[in-house]
Amino acid sequence: MDLKQDEVKLARTAGFCWGVKRAMDMALETAASASGPVYTHGPLIHNPQVIGMLEEKKVFAVEDATALERGVVIIRTHGVTPETRRALKERGLVIHDATCPLVARVQGIIKKHAHKGYHTVIIGDRGHAEVAGLLGYAAGRGHVIGSVEEARALPGMDKVCVVAQTTCDTRRYAEIVEALAARWPDAVVADTICDATVERQTEVRELAAQVDLMVVVGGRNSANTARLAQIAGEEGAAAMLVESEEELDAEEVARYRRIGLTAGASTPTWMIQRVLDRLRRQMRVRPPAPAETLRGALDALVISKVSTAAGAALMVYANSVLGGYAFSWRAALIAACYIFGMYALNQLSDAQTLKHNEPEKLRFYLRHQRAITAAAGMAVAASLAAAVTLGLSTALLYVVALLMGLAYTVKWLPRNETIRVHRLKDIPASKDVFVGVAWVMVAVVVPALASGGALLEAGVGVAAVFTFTLVYIRNVLSDIRDIHGDRLVGRETIPILIGKTATKYFLGVLCAGLAAALIAAAAAGWVGGFGYAALGAVAYTALYLTLYHWRVINRGVAFDLAIDGVFHVTGALALLWVFIA
Ligand code: SF4
Repeated sequence: MDLKQDEVKLARTAGFCWGVKRAMDMALETAASASGPVYTHGPLIHNPQVIGMLEEKKVFAVEDATALERGVVIIRTHGVTPETRRALKERGLVIHDATCPLVARVQGIIKKHAHKGYHTVIIGDRGHAEVAGLLGYAAGRGHVIGSVEEARALPGMDKVCVVAQTTCDTRRYAEIVEALAARWPDAVVADTICDATVERQTEVRELAAQVDLMVVVGGRNSANTARLAQIAGEEGAAAMLVESEEELDAEEVARYRRIGLTAGASTPTWMIQRVLDRLRRQMRVRPPAPAETLRGALDALVISKVSTAAGAALMVYANSVLGGYAFSWRAALIAACYIFGMYALNQLSDAQTLKHNEPEKLRFYLRHQRAITAAAGMAVAASLAAAVTLGLSTALLYVVALLMGLAYTVKWLPRNETIRVHRLKDIPASKDVFVGVAWVMVAVVVPALASGGALLEAGVGVAAVFTFTLVYIRNVLSDIRDIHGDRLVGRETIPILIGKTATKYFLGVLCAGLAAALIAAAAAGWVGGFGYAALGAVAYTALYLTLYHWRVINRGVAFDLAIDGVFHVTGALALLWVFIA
């Protein structure tokens, strides 16, 4: 699809590749468990901002870790030569190996063929850390080339094995292999460019052909970032390489009407988001188109949590249909105001986490801090007043929910070496349980009580399980997305405790369990026929989990809209059900 004028298109593949994510996870996990500083043999990734953050976590990059006397050393994704590995071991250093398995595979290919007497030709950048490490496996018979001319200038060799640096330019690689095949038709050729690189380069080629300017975010010393800028230039787009949003030249940006944005494999999501935001702002020097104004309004509704609050009101309605009790407008208002107020106040008090995970949200909150604080305060006051009109027991219950929400981020104890849990929020994996319980209180318990129903009825219980599970899955998925930022601020969420993959399976099991519970409850007559219709909400949850897994939705407003959508879909299903019945 062609890009419209005044649009910034973000590449789907922009950001950390899985090898870098794995190395980051390893570094942060090691730092969390180590009693002293942790060192990386060379910078873990080529990104100065991330290096600065790692230093805050006591992970320090040293040029040559073999010079250290003691400590924990992480080998970065590029890997090292066998000699360096041996030297690290002989020093008695504790080694954590974050060599990307795809780089390790290339090392294995070279080693195997070197043992058989082959000469190794590495297509890549001479002097790059990965290439230097690969050369170490060639038993002294390695050659690094970067062009067809260099391939033609190689000395005569009898047995030849050809490999590529994992981030090599795919086109350059194909040309060089052709030249090598002309000289050594029997050469063993292993295409070792990794899939992440191929996808990234293919997307940049496609995107660069549609835009006037291609902005590439990443460290200047990152070879794969520089290569992306070079590829964009070859496709005819102007290319701009920036390390952060501060380097964007507003005048230069204003000259272009269609801009593409991508990033190197070691650029964190939050940095890409900052550049994206700044680019969009710089383009808005021109009057925004109506569609853009509409999108801005939608963004504001989602970021400010108004859409989540609307979802809470819809859940009150859906739960009343599911649980078989009367719907109360006042209860819906209470739920919406509570959710808006609590989310807004917690976001404002948690700037540090937002900074790492969702910088665009932090900017929104800081820009509108006064208005949001006032609106959140009014929402809480209005919900409290509405709860009082529903009777003493409902009001008391609501006050409990309110105190629970407000107390979550309050520091109860001073933080020190022995007391690591100084607020409820610090209890490992507690956030999602607290949030789920709060939703059950305002979207099930308070409305059921307001309708005069008995809380111990089976339908109310099913509605509580239904709401808790939907909210819990939604929040744990956010934790998966925010795993790096959460690690940096020291938050312990489910994905940090059990790993991303295990968490994804866990969410799948929860989805299946919820579907089974709804069918059983409807079959047992605990809830009406809507129990079956509510399976649509579970199907929607499975859909957004799948879309996240496929990286169709993985950040920004689209992600929030998709996960909040489960409340809107559930409410719509209930309205439809009542309308049809
Ligand atoms: Fe591994 Fe490829 Fe990422 Fe390099 S670019 S770390 S080889 S996934």
